[in-house]
Amino acid sequence: MHDVVIVGAGPVGLFLACELGLAGCSVLVLERAPEPHSPFKAKPLGMRGLSVASVEAFYRRGMLHQLLTASGVHEDPGADPDAHEPSALRGGHFAGMVLDPALVDVAALPYRLPSPAMEVLLTHLESVETLLSEQASRLGVDIRHGVTVSAIAQNKECAVARAGEDEYAARWVVGCDGGRSAVRGLAGFEFVGTEPQLTGYSMHVTMAGAEELRSGINLTPTGMYLQPSEGHIGMMDFDGGAFDRSQQPTRDHLQEVLRRVSGTDVTLSEVHLASSFTDRAMQTTTYRRGRALLAGDAAHIHSPLGGQGLNTGIGDAMNLGWKLAATVHGYAPDGLLDTYTRERHPIGAAVLDWTRAQVAAMRPDPHGQAIQAVVRDLIGTRDGTTYMFERLSGASIRYDLGSEHPLVGRSAPDLRLENGTRLGDLMRDGRGVALDFSTDQCLRDSAMGWESRMRYAAGPARNDLGLGAVLVRPDGVVAWAGDRTPDREAFERAAGHWFGGPEI
Ligand SMILES: Cc1cc2nc3c(=O)[nH]c(=O)nc-3n(C[C@H](O)[C@H](O)[C@H](O)COP(=O)(O)OP(=O)(O)OC[C@H]3O[C@@H](n4cnc5c(N)ncnc54)[C@H](O)[C@@H]3O)c2cc1C
Repeated sequence: MHDVVIVGAGPVGLFLACELGLAGCSVLVLERAPEPHSPFKAKPLGMRGLSVASVEAFYRRGMLHQLLTASGVHEDPGADPDAHEPSALRGGHFAGMVLDPALVDVAALPYRLPSPAMEVLLTHLESVETLLSEQASRLGVDIRHGVTVSAIAQNKECAVARAGEDEYAARWVVGCDGGRSAVRGLAGFEFVGTEPQLTGYSMHVTMAGAEELRSGINLTPTGMYLQPSEGHIGMMDFDGGAFDRSQQPTRDHLQEVLRRVSGTDVTLSEVHLASSFTDRAMQTTTYRRGRALLAGDAAHIHSPLGGQGLNTGIGDAMNLGWKLAATVHGYAPDGLLDTYTRERHPIGAAVLDWTRAQVAAMRPDPHGQAIQAVVRDLIGTRDGTTYMFERLSGASIRYDLGSEHPLVGRSAPDLRLENGTRLGDLMRDGRGVALDFSTDQCLRDSAMGWESRMRYAAGPARNDLGLGAVLVRPDGVVAWAGDRTPDREAFERAAGHWFGGPEI
């Protein structure tokens, strides 16, 4: 009997496995694929963009350097410990309309501090999964390949995942088994949303006439195409999602679609690899049913426009990991696990709407063109670009934790003590962190009551942003913020609320 069985060793399942392993849970990961490697996860089709929130998650667990190296990035932004400025902003796009980062009103972005986590990191699934599975194994997680879960049963005490004749019992089961999740259906989750308007393709090809294709993202009178790197083509065809994903796209089909959406005569001489997707946008109505939970694509699917699926899934795993571990170990305050759905479901819903809005704007008809004109006007303004940037980068994410303090519910800035210690470094062991900048270190005695669940660090800060103290949850979210003379009782209430009763 394990504490947790995770179904699916994709990036989200593996990230969650690391979180649970770090917190001392016994974890079994069951993965259908007989082996981890797949050409769809390597360059070029496996390329994925990680947002600052995801890069931060790796940083906070001490995996940033390995992630950068595995992604081919050799200048580590964290190498400069005296950096005074946050890393440069990257613009991104909305429905192919590119943002100008110079137009972002930096003063309007709350609490930005220098951090080793960069704004956007281009990586590929293979690197991410290799790094995470090595880390999970080091933390004692058992990962088994070639096991397809086909049934789930649960009662008050445990959940059982079945694969053929084999049964795997655990106190909790988490479906991280992707967009076509088996766990979702087997555990009775309701999955609701909207049907597709388009079929998208990602392909690695050799072509004749490639010079006719423009670089960047191209909205055309018949669809959209982009060429992120030589021979790597993405395209969207507004066919109502008619192309059936279960069939392999042939060279003739791909060539016909590319010629139509690009308006060129390009010839595909060879198709090395191709996959298709749609913009079906669906989400489960809850992320927990009894002892079964969902995270990542298993809980929400949408088009890859804006590259948010993996980032949302990593956010799910960070949010769920410590809450599930506290529940397993028996010190979770009442209702802690249910805050997972309460906090993450609205984030997933907002991502679905963001992709729906982009699809509406990209429609190759007068309606789409009218929306594009409005969006172009808006992103020509400072406020419009700042709004888009906050949505794209995840800076707008703020959980409603019942506090009016503008920092509470947001990802904590990478606060640093005068002695050079960074918040991110203090989070490596997966505990929460209390940072006390008050001159008399007035929270020290209180924090000792939660020592096994929370680290305490005190001293003057290089930039305390006007704060006297902050309490940061293990997922990096600010749970409480105190002013220059922190209120000890308020701190203790917040600590008890998130970490349960004090140990002493
Ligand atoms: C073209 C394209 C580009 C994208 N670009 C980006 C991007 O730039 N940024 C971004 O954030 N997101 C992007 N995404 C989305 C991102 O790839 C996904 O959201 C992410 O991979 C989901 O991870 P996951 O772990 O939830 O699911 P998956 O990666 O699908 O992993 C699920 C795992 O579960 C296993 N499994 C399935 N069923 C079973 C079963 N019954 N038993 C056991 N195991 C099972 C599968 O074999 C698989 O290994 C893109 C997607 C596409 C298609």
